[in-house]
Amino acid sequence: MIDLHTHTTASDGTDRPNELVANAAAAGLDVLAVTDHDTTGGWDEAIAARPGGLTLVLGAEFSCAYTDPDGHRISLHLLGYLFDPDHEGLRAERARLRVSRLGRGRAIVDNLIVDGVPVTWNRVVEIAGGGAVGRPHIARVLVENGVVTSVDEAFAELLSSRSKYYVPKADSDIFDALRLVREAGGVTVFAHPLARRRGAVVDDDVIAVLAQSGLAGIEVDHPDHAPDDRAHLARMAADLGLVGTGSSDYHGTNKTIALGACTTGREAYEQLFSQPTAREPVTG
Ligand code: AMP
Ligand code: FE
Ligand code: FE
Ligand code: ZN
Repeated sequence: MIDLHTHTTASDGTDRPNELVANAAAAGLDVLAVTDHDTTGGWDEAIAARPGGLTLVLGAEFSCAYTDPDGHRISLHLLGYLFDPDHEGLRAERARLRVSRLGRGRAIVDNLIVDGVPVTWNRVVEIAGGGAVGRPHIARVLVENGVVTSVDEAFAELLSSRSKYYVPKADSDIFDALRLVREAGGVTVFAHPLARRRGAVVDDDVIAVLAQSGLAGIEVDHPDHAPDDRAHLARMAADLGLVGTGSSDYHGTNKTIALGACTTGREAYEQLFSQPTAREPVTG
């Protein structure tokens, strides 16, 4: 079982990296990728705690945007795997994205407070515990304070990208991100391209352009993809020479999805990592 997209407390997951690798082994995974939002902060602890027999693929999920010809920005997530964490350009970009998450999280909280919603920035920062701050951390404060009964409910309205409280965060232009991750020796996969619930998604022709710009794969099987979208993405992957992956996008108790809920085939895994990369999966 191969799961190529998971989160820890280094961003908006709830398992510490050492807990994630233990839970992955217990769930029967053979290969686990750690892909926190805009950070490699969970890598070292995951490496140190890796149970024997579990192959660890180090990565990150980059906050990106595609700007269409009319100037509309569509936010999208790019998974980068096995890149050099010390590549200066990519490291600086991760830092820029994380700093922006702070100001933007605070702005969302301020918007909520103006409307009398009980939430404090201090508590959000406390819950984030030094990890890259995201809306799930705000959601948990809203649950704590009885504003909503679940993180899901918080995302349905108050924290939705369509909410009046929403503030966008900084993101990398998708073409810059593709270039940077490749320069840093990494492999790229477009995360949940058709997760429509989260907001606007890109058209097929954009995926085709990304495929010509160095993209190596697309997530086909993802909990946020409807069955017909998965079929469509599998056909697109085949047509465009992209590797089709499957992943849970596990976030611990911030979501109800289990490790290994969606998985990547062995052949796809081998194809994805057949090119030389700055790092190797940690095995043994
Ligand atoms: P942000 O990165 O701050 O824009 O917040 C988006 C993050 O929230 C994404 O990483 C999603 O994984 C997560 N997310 C989106 N919808 C939900 C939801 N309904 N429940 C929990 N987490 C969610
Ligand atoms: Fe997340
Ligand atoms: Fe994502
Ligand atoms: Zn994710």
